[in-house]
Amino acid sequence: MPTVNALLARARVQLANTETPSLDARLLLQHVTGLNHADVIAEPDRLIDDEDATRFDGLVARRAAYEPVTRILGAREFYGRNFKVTPDVLDPRADTETIVDVCLKLMPKDRDCRILDLGTGSGILAVTLLAERKRASGQAVDVSPAALAVARENAETLGVDDRLTFIESHWFFNVEGMFDLIVSNPPYIPAPEIAGLDIEVKDHDPHLALVGGEDGLQCYREIASDAGAHLNSDGFITVEIGAGQAADVGHIFAAQGFELIAQAKDLGGHIRCLAFQLSA
Ligand code: GLN
Repeated sequence: MPTVNALLARARVQLANTETPSLDARLLLQHVTGLNHADVIAEPDRLIDDEDATRFDGLVARRAAYEPVTRILGAREFYGRNFKVTPDVLDPRADTETIVDVCLKLMPKDRDCRILDLGTGSGILAVTLLAERKRASGQAVDVSPAALAVARENAETLGVDDRLTFIESHWFFNVEGMFDLIVSNPPYIPAPEIAGLDIEVKDHDPHLALVGGEDGLQCYREIASDAGAHLNSDGFITVEIGAGQAADVGHIFAAQGFELIAQAKDLGGHIRCLAFQLSA
């Protein structure tokens, strides 16, 4: 029987062409064996039975063929919680935690707060915000019924389903009512750039969740044009943006009467989130 260390060392070699071989090898081994991070660190010489070792090798081979770890596990951690992820939803990105931080700074702790998550996908934004703010409630919208089913399951698992409703809608089309915070991580990749993306993205994320029209900005135009009609007078809208889109998205919202009140960079130093309020 091989040891933890021997299996990880071999996997790191097989995954040498991927971005994070050591992390991925460990996550796959933990998944197969049920060990946690601390176990793996504390017991490098622990023996792994042959059946688990064979299963592990199979998962490593899938990762070596550029299938993302999230897709292999069917789950991903986001803002400290575990979310189910299926092929119907975008694989939540660590950079998207930036928009959560911005929203939490803007949301009141001691008052009720109505939020609307546009294009909820796996539900990470709506579910995380409601889990972090017990007096918040709201609606999660997606155009894909399959995505809404995943978001609903995540809301149930993480115990916020009593404060969250789900609506099948293209942006605001079927949305009624007013909100204190509108949040969205819309598709923002220009259609011509999809072919050049990594295999992990172009072959495994739903293109519906990626493509923001020819120039990547189409969803911001649609969202900005209707957001004002659904925002309470002191409400906010926060959007995630792609690298280099801050000025263009700023102009789109300014043209609809919004002013920029906050922005935040991701770990890579790109402005990743913009927050707007209707100008007085
Ligand atoms: N809101 C989800 C996320 O941030 C889905 C976003 C999307 O599909 N573009 O991961």
